[in-house]
Amino acid sequence: MGGSYIADLANQITFLVALAVSLNLLLGFAGQMSMATAAFYGLGAYTCAIMTAQGMTLTGAAVIGPGWPFLGGLASAIVVSFVGGLVVAAPAARRVRGDYLILLTLAFHFLVVTIASSWVGLTGGPNGIVVPPIGFFGYEINTTDQAFWFLLAWAAFVSLVCWWIGRSPFGRLLRGIREDEIAIQALGKRTIAPKSLAFAMTAAMAGATGAISAAYMQFVAPTTYSLDLAILVAACVALGGPGNILGSVVAAIVIGALRPILENVPSLSSDSAVPWQTVIYGSILVAGMVFRPRGLLPEGLIAMRRFPREAISAVPRVVQATLLKTVGERDQPALAKSSVPNPMIASPIVRVRNLSKSFGGLQAVKDVSFDLHPGEIVALIGPNGAGKSTIFNLMTGAIRPDQGEVTLHGQSLAGADPCAVARSGMARYFQHVRILPGLSALNNVAIGVPRQAGENLAMTFLAPMRVARGEAEVRAEALRQLENVGIAPHANRTAQDLAFGQQKLVAFARLLATGAQVLLLDEPTSGVDPQAADQIIALVRTLAQSGKSICIVEHSLHVVSELADRILFMNAGAIMAEGTVEAITTRPDLVDLYFGT
Ligand code: ADP
Ligand code: MG
Repeated sequence: MGGSYIADLANQITFLVALAVSLNLLLGFAGQMSMATAAFYGLGAYTCAIMTAQGMTLTGAAVIGPGWPFLGGLASAIVVSFVGGLVVAAPAARRVRGDYLILLTLAFHFLVVTIASSWVGLTGGPNGIVVPPIGFFGYEINTTDQAFWFLLAWAAFVSLVCWWIGRSPFGRLLRGIREDEIAIQALGKRTIAPKSLAFAMTAAMAGATGAISAAYMQFVAPTTYSLDLAILVAACVALGGPGNILGSVVAAIVIGALRPILENVPSLSSDSAVPWQTVIYGSILVAGMVFRPRGLLPEGLIAMRRFPREAISAVPRVVQATLLKTVGERDQPALAKSSVPNPMIASPIVRVRNLSKSFGGLQAVKDVSFDLHPGEIVALIGPNGAGKSTIFNLMTGAIRPDQGEVTLHGQSLAGADPCAVARSGMARYFQHVRILPGLSALNNVAIGVPRQAGENLAMTFLAPMRVARGEAEVRAEALRQLENVGIAPHANRTAQDLAFGQQKLVAFARLLATGAQVLLLDEPTSGVDPQAADQIIALVRTLAQSGKSICIVEHSLHVVSELADRILFMNAGAIMAEGTVEAITTRPDLVDLYFGT
């Protein structure tokens, strides 16, 4: 192939850019580390080579492929690497922790490289395969210079696709999974499919890039697809900033351009340049990790202020309304605090029956039964370790009971996972908040909105207008919920930068965004200042008045007496007493237990 050295260099950089941005989709957005970049790059290259090769191999054997044109080779490379990606990702995606994926992708890398070098009949072994040049519709690219524009267009296309996915609701879902997969499942979102799909998309883009590079170099051989390449690409992502597509582009250009510069430094002859390059790349990476741990261009650097300041009211409207209302109510000697005068008349929305759970020798929950009615606030109180959070874990399917059953709207929840439970209308507020630290407050809440069209990757490309309309509604809803809890002015701030009390309010807004009918609140006011606690009390009361059923675990007797229609007093896994605030707080034995005297 004729053409200039500079053009070839630029072309190699386009491959690095395409690989880096596609890995960023997986590593930066979905938070999944893959060592299989070179393997999928090679898989695509070999697929294209086998499907398009013609005549004889270098060793004189007849080629076994169908001799398709380039576009056929490219299409088959995309299909094979996409399917290969699904096969590799599916078993790993079932696990919440991602370390397993690193091992699995490493094993896959060695599998691909071994097949490429040993299955001589298929791959030509160490000799490789001669590949026809890039060509379509009768037009053939034969020089490095001609190839440049095509390769540049490809790298730009891959970058655009990754950027588009990254900023879509699907991308937000991936980032949510990266931040806290358990929190995402508890909002009623499936996580296995998006994780697998992100992996397969990354694999398909690497595979397609491999196919193009094979036809560009007109040759494939196993040494091209080394682990070094996989690490180099990961270094580009880490250096550029995980979650920032532009950062990967810049880092890939810089690192790609560094190689020939090093090769041309006279004191580093080509042979000695190779280890020196590794040392220099390694040093850059280490320096980057130390001085800019989130990359040169951190995620969200160019976050746009999508909301004009005046659109955001600083006053929590619902809270204000409730405070006014409750001031009025205090004058009346009302017994029941919620809108349903006597909850026992309405049939229960949740039935908990004979729940038991032990952890090893410890019986954390013993034969617990209770009901929850529409519009009712039930407080679950008791000393630390009584088993309150475990009851919520059992009710939401986070852990399986040894015995007993929970029904919601008369349907048994036996065997349902947290996602399914949330989807059927029972959502949970975690004792450990489980905010998504790297996302803005607004996105934290937006992710809670159910049934978003844009969370379907196909829709993101096939129905972009519908997705955009849906997203506008989702953001408006998220903003409404942030206003509800009074922190709309912080909508664009990253959640990890908010004060703890504000983070709890964001988590509360996220819970409300799910629209769930039954809310399980695990210590929503613990650790927040009295003002935020009063805000939460007012909110919970409004929610019950709007007909939601609420079970709240609380330590503060103030909160409990402000809110609860009924108290369940738990100790050592069992419900010891049930009754009104007055009935429970006037029993000296319970008070002693509660305060540990
Ligand atoms: P609390 O009433 O304070 O929320 P928990 O429900 O968190 O209490 O815990 C009840 C008991 O069960 C504690 O002794 C706790 O150590 C134990 N426990 C809770 N979850 C687990 C678990 N996953 N494995 C083992 N022990 C657990
Ligand atoms: Mg607890």
